Order: sequence, then structure tokens, then C-alpha cells
Amino acid sequence: MASISPPKTTINYIKRITSYFFWGWDKEKKKYHWASWETLSFPYEEGGIGVRKLEDICTAMQFKQWWTFRTKKSLWSQFLRAKYYQRANPIAKKWDTGKSLIWKYMMKNKTLIEPHITWKVHSGNNLFWWDDFLGEGQLAHHCDNTTSLNNTPVSYFIENGTWNETLIRQEVPPLLIPKILRCRIHYQAGVEDTTVWKPNENGVFSCSSAWNICRKKKDSNTLNKLIWHTQIPFKISFILWRALSSKLPTNEKITTFGAAPASCSCCNRPGNDEINHIFVNGNFANYIWKYFFAPCGIQHDQIYLRHYTMLGLKPH
Ligand SMILES: [Zn+2]
Repeated sequence: MASISPPKTTINYIKRITSYFFWGWDKEKKKYHWASWETLSFPYEEGGIGVRKLEDICTAMQFKQWWTFRTKKSLWSQFLRAKYYQRANPIAKKWDTGKSLIWKYMMKNKTLIEPHITWKVHSGNNLFWWDDFLGEGQLAHHCDNTTSLNNTPVSYFIENGTWNETLIRQEVPPLLIPKILRCRIHYQAGVEDTTVWKPNENGVFSCSSAWNICRKKKDSNTLNKLIWHTQIPFKISFILWRALSSKLPTNEKITTFGAAPASCSCCNRPGNDEINHIFVNGNFANYIWKYFFAPCGIQHDQIYLRHYTMLGLKPH
């Protein structure tokens, strides 16, 4: 269990090792890291290089832990029940100092994950107030006095396979009544109510959908999506990514670190070296573009690498 909830120092240590490995070593010294692991850890279309943050993977696994706890009866869930919530409902419980770390994470994550879980009523064995069968949150949270709400099963309000309207009108706050009566029951005697994971169309939990919920998101970036085409090898996509994000050791960059500018390899003039000069309008780049563009009938008239990347990679 500790493997999915490791301490922050362990996560940072693993991230550091991965980062050193990724950027490499040279002459027994670690190479300069041109981008932080945080910057790289985004999907392609959001400007990253498609790696996932370890913290997010751990949180997704913790979500799975909560999902298993809520949906399956196991020796482990019985143990937690006996230890932490003998009478109250786990949804209503709060973490107190002294309780285990696992329970702490579960209590912390439940508010994030519960809105994504809903229940399909069959025999109504689930809890009326605490299991969200309406898809709008637990009914208990719509009531003022939750302490008086007990673990009544949904079946208590069902009669002959349909809602017992009289009983509902007696016990449920008025605002909730029409919503409940509108909720369809798929009544099947003896069949346990089923859980539905809302983020997936098939209703089945998956770690990748959980990861998508808990991670930080960025706006979509069309250019980046083009760079990481499946037909382009990683190193080519990555050099393009670095070029477009100004993360290459050009003169423009190295002088900001206090280094003396080197001579440009194509025109031998010092200082005349930045991304667009190297890749688009320097002597060498000019020659290459003209050479390959001419047979295709394209004019070499752009000055930014960004334009050529869009032109070359966009689907025709
Ligand atoms: Zn040059």
C-alpha cells in the first residue's frame, strides 16, 4: 500500500534519477537540463513530451484503491470498516490525527473521486442517503442535518419495483422529491446495485481516466500535436520540440549563461546564431529548404521554423 502513497522525498528522488537519465551524462558530469520534469510531463497536445508525473500516477492508483473499497466486498474493506467507521458512513467520516496514512489518503481523495461515481439501482441494496444514484452527489449532502441520516438502503423506498412515492414524500426534503421520482430504477430482485464510473463510456474504472481527472491540464497546442506524429522518431520530434521551445544551446541562449558566443557554423560569423537562423534562413538551412522545396513547387519564403513545421507536418 505504501507503494502507491510514497513520501514526497521518495517521489522527488525518483524524479531526479529519471531526469538525469533522460538528459544524460557527459564526462562524469550531468548534462544541463533544458526543461524541468514538470514542463515535460504533459501529453503531446498540451505541450509536453507525453510522460506522466509520478505524483499523478500515484493519485490515480489511490483513486483505484477508493473505487475498489467502495465497490467490492473484501477482507480489507471489512477490516477498514471495523477499524474506522463501525456505525457512520465512510463518506461522512473525517480523518483524525493518529489514524493510518492509507486512511488519510482515502479520506482526502474521496471528495475528488466521489463526484465521478454513480450507482445503477437494481435491487436497491445500496444506501439511499450515501450512494449517489441520481448522479448529482450524495443526497445526504443536500440535507441540513446529516447526523440523523442512517444507513437506510434504497430498497426501503421501493415497492413492487418502483418508487414508493408516499414514503418518499414523507421522508425526503421537498426539493429532492421530483428528482428521485424521475430517476429510473432498473429493478431486478436479488441483483446487487452496480457502480458506474462516469468518466468512461462503458462505466468501468480505468487508471488512465483517473489520471486524466487528477492531473494538471494545459490548453491544447496544435503545433505540438503535429510534432509528435507516430511516424516521426522520438529524437526528431524531440529536437523539433526543443527548437520550437528555444531549448537548444544556440548563441542566443548560451550568452545568457555568461558564455562567449561561438561562431555560426554556416556563415562563420560570431553571434549570428539563433533558432530561425539555424533551421530556416541561415546559409545552410536556406540551401536545404530550396533543394527539397523546389521539386514540390513550394517557395522558400518563410522566416520562422514554426511556419515550416506547420507546413510540413499538417495533414494534407
Ligand atoms: Zn549562420
